[in-house]
Amino acid sequence: MGLVKNFFMALSNNAFLNTTAKKVGPSLGANKVVAGNQLPDIVRTIKRLNDKNIAGTVDILGEFVHTRQEAIDAKNEILEVMKVLYDNRLNAHMSIKLSQLGIEFDRALAYENVYEIVKTAKSYNNMHINFDTEKYESLFDVTQTLDRLKSEFTNVGTVIQAYLFKADVLLDKYPDLRLRLVKGAYKESPHIAYQTKEEIDQNYIRLIEKRLLNTDNFTSIATHDHHVINHVKAFVEEHQIDKSKFEFQMLYGFRTELAEQIANEGYHFTIYVPYGDDWFGYFMRRLAERPQNLTLAFKEFAKPKRLAIFGGIALFTTLFTLTLKKKNKQPKSTTATESNAQQQRCIKIL
Ligand SMILES: Cc1cc2nc3c(=O)[nH]c(=O)nc-3n(C[C@H](O)[C@H](O)[C@H](O)COP(=O)(O)OP(=O)(O)OC[C@H]3O[C@@H](n4cnc5c(N)ncnc54)[C@H](O)[C@@H]3O)c2cc1C
Repeated sequence: MGLVKNFFMALSNNAFLNTTAKKVGPSLGANKVVAGNQLPDIVRTIKRLNDKNIAGTVDILGEFVHTRQEAIDAKNEILEVMKVLYDNRLNAHMSIKLSQLGIEFDRALAYENVYEIVKTAKSYNNMHINFDTEKYESLFDVTQTLDRLKSEFTNVGTVIQAYLFKADVLLDKYPDLRLRLVKGAYKESPHIAYQTKEEIDQNYIRLIEKRLLNTDNFTSIATHDHHVINHVKAFVEEHQIDKSKFEFQMLYGFRTELAEQIANEGYHFTIYVPYGDDWFGYFMRRLAERPQNLTLAFKEFAKPKRLAIFGGIALFTTLFTLTLKKKNKQPKSTTATESNAQQQRCIKIL
């Protein structure tokens, strides 16, 4: 990992900075990739997208869910945003993460939360609820939850990560659901996932083609990769696949001009819009990925004085944690659940 990437990943995992940032709201250039933390922000952002013939899928950012109350709060926030989207007749749906709803420490509670969300969404014109996929260990929770819900609801779907060897099996398992196809964002073991860009890209294209040829259910192709996008355009033309069967998706703030151009060409397009107080970790991970792609946001953040302050805080808190570890002492308040949640945060990517 490069120095810059390491620096931003360290900041993204820094609890002190995350907590402090929550109080301030998206700043430092984060508004280029996060749609704000107030309901009017999300309405304004999605309206602006809808005016350009682009739909939205809203992700409520959540970094620190490890108690019942936090999981219930996350569910309530999702319900609140869904209501606002529906009341304002916005062309948008929700992307949710089961980890936010408590699945890592209370499966029954998480299912109750998800059930309420999906049922409410059904009453909102069958609003779609996408279950984002996270690290491999949590995949079974996603499929198990989907399998329970899909006999009762048609407004649920999930994400297939093309780097997984078993992506094919998952694709075949859900021909009847709306699916989002991605390359995959987490660091996974060579026992379960392709490791090289070539292999992943190849499998990604193969899965997209298979899905578009074999099912009429809606497919979201979520990538910023223009090679893949151009390939899909040529493929659907060659096979006379109707544009109503699929869409492209990108993250908010990424390749905006390309997104608008594709929408103008008559393809369905959805932008993944992160929203909420927990913006800091997400913003740092985006900067860690490709700072050069977020030029404006990066310039705003990377003023020398700011870098020095953030670097100082990160260094101080890291040294502090290391010292604690060295003394073989956990902070008194750290429970098993909390340290589990800390590990989750360390490998959090999206
Ligand atoms: C809407 C959306 C939802 C997602 N949901 C999930 C999920 O639920 N689970 C999950 O594991 N992952 C998810 N991902 C992340 C995904 O798995 C990939 O990690 C991520 O999209 C990076 O891969 P890529 O296909 O965009 O292209 P990459 O492989 O990152 O890039 C390929 C090439 O495209 C070009 N390129 C890429 N980005 C840019 C840019 N910003 N500017 C200019 N050129 C660029 C470059 O030439 C680059 O070499 C999601 C991604 C999106 C867009």
